[in-house]
Formats: sequence, structure tokens, C-alpha cells
Amino acid sequence: MTSNAFDLLVVGHGIAGLSAALSAMQNGAKVAVLERAPVEEAGGCTRYTEAYLRLKSEDELSDDFEGVLADAGSANPDPALVAAMMRPAGEWPGILRTMSVTDPEFISTFAGKAIPTIKWLKTFGIRFIPARLPHITGREHPGLVVPVGGGYAMMEALVNAGRAGGVAFYYETAVRRLLQDEAGAVVGVHAVARQNRPVEFRAKAVVLASGGFEGNPQMLQRYVGKGAINIRPVARGCYYNQGDGIRMACAIGAAQSGDYGYYHAVPVDSRSGRTEAKVLIFPFGIVVNNLGKRFTDEGVGTEYRTFDAMCHAIQAQPNGTGYAIVDAKINDIPEFTKAILSDRPPIEAASLAEMAQKLAIPAAALEETVRAFNGACRPGRFIEMRADGLATAGIEPKKSNWARPIDRAPFLCYPLIPASIITMGGIKTNANAQVLNAEGDCIPGLYAAGAVVGIFYRHYPAATSVLRGAVFGCIAGAHAAAKFEAERCEARTTTTA
Ligand SMILES: Cc1cc2nc3c(=O)[nH]c(=O)nc-3n(C[C@H](O)[C@H](O)[C@H](O)COP(=O)(O)OP(=O)(O)OC[C@H]3O[C@@H](n4cnc5c(N)ncnc54)[C@H](O)[C@@H]3O)c2cc1C
Repeated sequence: MTSNAFDLLVVGHGIAGLSAALSAMQNGAKVAVLERAPVEEAGGCTRYTEAYLRLKSEDELSDDFEGVLADAGSANPDPALVAAMMRPAGEWPGILRTMSVTDPEFISTFAGKAIPTIKWLKTFGIRFIPARLPHITGREHPGLVVPVGGGYAMMEALVNAGRAGGVAFYYETAVRRLLQDEAGAVVGVHAVARQNRPVEFRAKAVVLASGGFEGNPQMLQRYVGKGAINIRPVARGCYYNQGDGIRMACAIGAAQSGDYGYYHAVPVDSRSGRTEAKVLIFPFGIVVNNLGKRFTDEGVGTEYRTFDAMCHAIQAQPNGTGYAIVDAKINDIPEFTKAILSDRPPIEAASLAEMAQKLAIPAAALEETVRAFNGACRPGRFIEMRADGLATAGIEPKKSNWARPIDRAPFLCYPLIPASIITMGGIKTNANAQVLNAEGDCIPGLYAAGAVVGIFYRHYPAATSVLRGAVFGCIAGAHAAAKFEAERCEARTTTTA
């Protein structure tokens, strides 16, 4: 077996892993990045994301930044335990540190380090500009910023700087297991290269930055439950994220955190192989299942998170597909095509019976669904840009906004499936990105950053993932390197004495 020695091993080549590698390198550590994918596909979700960041500008957080993180940071926490969290963290019992509540210090560190991290990323030549989401209804989002060239450009800039600074990159190297010394400290990893060739790497510390489990159907089935098999990862890079970091850390006693039953998703055209082929015009029509029946409120509101709700509802349908049907009145909405990123044209039909035939769903059921829906629509003013209150009456499920009859041919349809962007369940760290064990103590030598860490419950605050990966990756690398330096100093002092 090949064996290699470094100061720091980083598992994963996304924004979290590369930020960890670069910050450790800049602080004097000898670093290796271990990546399961081949070089031309490396980078997980980061490679494919546009990377919207929840910032007003590159110098300022969005106003709601800490608020939305705190809001998504727990489910139904015990108030007595939350009150106990107000005491200094050093005084907390272990059970508090591993509770399913994101530590306030983690949130304040995220907020406090976000802008300095953007400044740090700019030193690698990454540029940031203001941005808007391409959604028609989903406009109730805060100010947003994107890196020019998206996640791919960030990845390229960091990899180039890492190569120039001496970081070693091992591709097609899938990490399987963490190695510990007798004292329980993590001192390396066991990995496999191509042809199942075992490789061992030794180091003083390891950063897990291997993403979530959106590429692992079995884990999705186990945690997300019924219909999980209907979910498709939103981009090719997500297939490499199989929850390995979570599994490896849990195997040595790490605490779990985050909402394992929830995932953030967008509805995409099932016929398209394009990255994030989202279709967000469903609020202007109806969505039926393969039985020809509506199953959810298509017009809940303008909040970005309504896309998640639609995906979760589609996931539970018999074949995991929701058929979004609009009529010719969609053409009245200026620039509605901006909300369609599919590369496939809509399925078009002159009548509902013809549409049903093209979709292979029962025609009589579809016609009855549309008849009932049209009968429940009420007069009022349709306003596409905001929740217009044009709701149905006397029908289940209700449609809360943008309810106009589906009555003008031609009828158009996109078959939608849920595409997962990020899973919420992961392992728990403190604000230094050190992994905690189930007793609330740090596992020596083990760090984690990015989507492998679970911090959200019940919903996902949009545009926080890439930033989180960068902030805590950077913290992990610097913290580990500072420890190495302190140990080197101590060793020198001991030798001199
Ligand atoms: C299409 C798309 C759009 C998105 N839009 C946004 C957005 O606008 N804003 C936002 O904030 N977030 C967005 N996200 C989510 C965001 O991109 C990710 O959450 C974030 O990039 C995760 O970074 P990461 O470094 O934790 O993981 P990743 O970038 O997924 O990297 C994980 C890496 O670990 C590697 N790996 C996995 N297992 C192993 C193993 N056993 N051994 C070695 N290597 C392994 C993978 O190959 C991968 O390279 C989007 C994601 C996608 C796919």
C-alpha cells in the first residue's frame, strides 16, 4: 500500500475543501487535497453552482443574515435548554453542544467572518458582482451577490493558487475511513484509488469537506423517506456526494446535526440533462400527477422556499412527477421564459384531451380536474410580480394566488421532478470547525466544513451554502495550521531545554 505524509489532509475539492487547503497552506502547512472525482469532474456542487451569496454587496451582509440562520437553526428546541445556551459556551454540558440547535456562536462567527472571507477570496482574483434571481414570483429574497463565473471560477482560482503554493492534489482518490491514534486523535485516512488500489495518507489533522448525501439514493431513502427514489441530483457533481464524510465521522463517534429528513430542491424538467434545468412557471397554472389530479397549492406565495414545498409534494406522487400545465395566457407575462432553464420545448396540445394523451395520463380525470379548478377561480386582478391574492374558492387543494382558469389553447406542459441541491443532515462542529463527538467534546485532529456539517432544520435559507463553505473552510485550515505551528514551537522549546 502506498503511504504519504502531510500536515493536513482535506477530503473534497469544493469551496469548503479548497478554502481549507488554501488557508492552511498560507499558514505554513503541507497540505493534500483528496478528491474522489477525476480532475475534469472534480468540485462537487461547487463546480456547477452560480453561487448566489446572501450579501447586499461584497462589503455588506444582507439585513436578515443572522436572523434567517437562527430561524433555520432549530426545530422545536426545549426552551430550558435554549435558555441554558445563553451561558458562556465553556460552561455548557456536553448534551447542549450536541443538541439539534445550531450554536449561536457558530452563527455569529459565520456572520462576522463572511465579509473578511469575501475579501480573502478576492486576493485570488475572484470578482463579485450584484445579482438577481431569474424567478418571476420568487422575488422576496434579500440582496444577492455572485462571483463572476460562478462556483467554477472560484474553484479554478483556488486550485491554481494551491498548485502554485505547493498543495498536492490527488484525484480519483475516494476516502473511506479515518485513522486514529491510541489517544483517539485523527492521524490520517484510508482511501482507494482506481482499480480498488488501497492508499493510506498520514497527517496531523483531517478536514472533511465531502459535501452532503444528495448523490446517495440509499441514504435519501433512509432519511428523506417515501418517494426519495424520485429525487435526482440537480447537477452532475452532486452524484459524487454520497455522505461519506458523515459516515466516516459517525463511525468514530461524531455528533450528528441538521435535519436529515429535509433537502433543498428545485423542480426541473425531467426530460432535460442540463444542470439545474429548473422550470418555475408552475405558480401560473396547475400541477397534476399521473392520475390527472392536482395535489398541492401551486400558488403559495413569492417566498423562494415555495420551490422546496413543490418538490417535496411532487416527490410523494405515484411516479414522482408533477405535470405543470399552463394555457396560452402565459404569453401575457413579460419575460416568462426567463423562469425556464430547460433546454426542451414545452409539450404543446390544442385540447386537454390531446395533452392527456401526450402525457399518458387519463383524459377524463384531467378534464374533470381542470373543470373543477376553473369553476373555483374568482374574478380579480392578476399580478404576476407579487402575491396577488387571486385565490380559488371551494376547492381542495386551494390555489392561494395567481388562480386564473386554464381555458385558452394551446395548452403547454413541463413534466417536473424534484432535483436536490443540498441535504441538511450532517455532523456537528463548533465555531472553529472542529468536529464534536456525541459527548460534546472535540475529536482531536478532525475538522469539517461545508455541506457535510448539519446546521439547518425544516427549511433552507437561500444563498448561504457557498459562503458557509468558504467561511468555515478557511477557519478550519487556519485553526489546524495554528495548532501545527504551536506544536512545532513546543517541540523546539522542549529540544532546546
Ligand atoms: C446547480 C446548483 C446550484 C446551487 N446554487 C447555489 C447558490 O446559488 N448559492 C449557494 O450558496 N449554494 C448553491 N448551491 C449549493 C452549493 O453549491 C453547495 O452547497 C456548496 O457548493 C457545497 O460546497 P462543499 O465544498 O461543502 O461541497 P461540494 O462542492 O459538493 O464538494 C464536495 C467534494 O467532495 C468530494 N467527495 C465526496 N466524497 C468524497 C470521498 N469519499 N473522498 C474524496 N472526495 C469526496 C466530491 O467529489 C466533491 O468534489 C447550488 C448547488 C448546485 C449543484
